[in-house]
Amino acid sequence: MTQCSISDYFLRLMISRQFAERTRTTGFANLLRHIAIVATASAVLIGSFGTAWAFTRAERQAFQKSIVDRRARLNPKFTKTTRKKTRFIIVHTSEGGLKSTLRVVSSGKRLRRSYRTKGGHAHYVIARDGRVYRTLDKRFVADHAGRSMWNGQTDISKISIGIELVGYHYGSITEKQYRSVGLLIEILQRIYDLDDSAVLTHSQVAYGKPNRWVRNSHRGRKRCAKNFDHTKAGLAPTWPFDPDVKAGRLVADPQLASIYYAPRKPSSRSTGGNVISSTNTAWNIAGDEYNSPTTLYRLPNGKVVPGHEVEERIGWNRIPKNTVVLLNQEEGDPAGESEGPVRRISDGYTAWDIAGFDYNKASTFYFFPRGRVASGREVSDWDELPANTRMIVGYRGPYEVTARRPAGIIAGKNYNKKDTLYYFPNKKIISGDSVRDFARLPKGVLVFLPSTG
Ligand SMILES: [Zn+2]
Repeated sequence: MTQCSISDYFLRLMISRQFAERTRTTGFANLLRHIAIVATASAVLIGSFGTAWAFTRAERQAFQKSIVDRRARLNPKFTKTTRKKTRFIIVHTSEGGLKSTLRVVSSGKRLRRSYRTKGGHAHYVIARDGRVYRTLDKRFVADHAGRSMWNGQTDISKISIGIELVGYHYGSITEKQYRSVGLLIEILQRIYDLDDSAVLTHSQVAYGKPNRWVRNSHRGRKRCAKNFDHTKAGLAPTWPFDPDVKAGRLVADPQLASIYYAPRKPSSRSTGGNVISSTNTAWNIAGDEYNSPTTLYRLPNGKVVPGHEVEERIGWNRIPKNTVVLLNQEEGDPAGESEGPVRRISDGYTAWDIAGFDYNKASTFYFFPRGRVASGREVSDWDELPANTRMIVGYRGPYEVTARRPAGIIAGKNYNKKDTLYYFPNKKIISGDSVRDFARLPKGVLVFLPSTG
């Protein structure tokens, strides 16, 4: 594509965007106003990319006041370097809940009780309820993009702002996050004079050196924010092609290419979630984190194997189908807060984040804060799961303990195993290996057994 046709392309995008906005408003006056804007922009924009402002000054000011300042939490070991130029805004998904995201972004990634990085991993964090946190002053370089390239420019961290959306690349981005990120991006675009082509996701710009999955330098090192829909943040659709693939500097990642650059984009961005299948490999799900100790593989039999042990214990070609891949799992901090097999929905996690495709299965159980217990089949309102709902995946039950059916009959020889769970009338869930006295289980205790198949 020539320089000119690129401009044409983005001009078309901009025009279509103006029309999309127009459909949201009513009245002939608005229509005329938008036509006037498009006409003016067309005249000005030949040779550059488009931007269209969507928020009022009052909206931007109210938003800026609402940003929570967490700059003081930055790891003191992080070296602040002033950024010389700002060419891009990079959107990430944090692959974690709010608490751990804020901690990791400010303090650094932790492994085995020591920090591996020095923090400063983003300028802003956006929670699932839309609240925005300022984690590093925007004039400094954040360590967020790693090995990266766009249009021949490498080391994108040095010339970009990093925004973390709390959530998972295989999950959802909330409407409130889209509004906040749209506002934030517009403010930053005005400050740094950036158009919509400057807004990219981490998975768009990250690249990897040859590895066991791909022989050449390649896209696909990161899957970060591949579920980010530029248009939902009020931006023009993203680039029609990957400039580094086009120039032969990198080989494309088929999955990412189909998401970002396919001529007809799939209406849904769900791409197999975080569950291994014949088409959704560990590489597709985790990118270069596939063999990290912080990536956990939860096998269908319930065993959990960290990424760095998969080669030896299973073999990369023999990971069973339906294995769930969990990213950024620090020790003692698995997806959601977890007490053994019990996970807690908090920080705006969704059931999908934790259970993947299993979220609505009969073998997934939800323990609501008020005491109700329901299987995935029985839950109808997925958007409003209350905070502190607990869940278990891969279970059958409940079986009520009675005088005639004690735990030993229900659970057999596994009655006192860790994976056998007892739900008490006081709402506690106790593992079989922690129950003190099986002879004196109170009336109404429910037993949940790991489902074998
Ligand atoms: Zn990222």
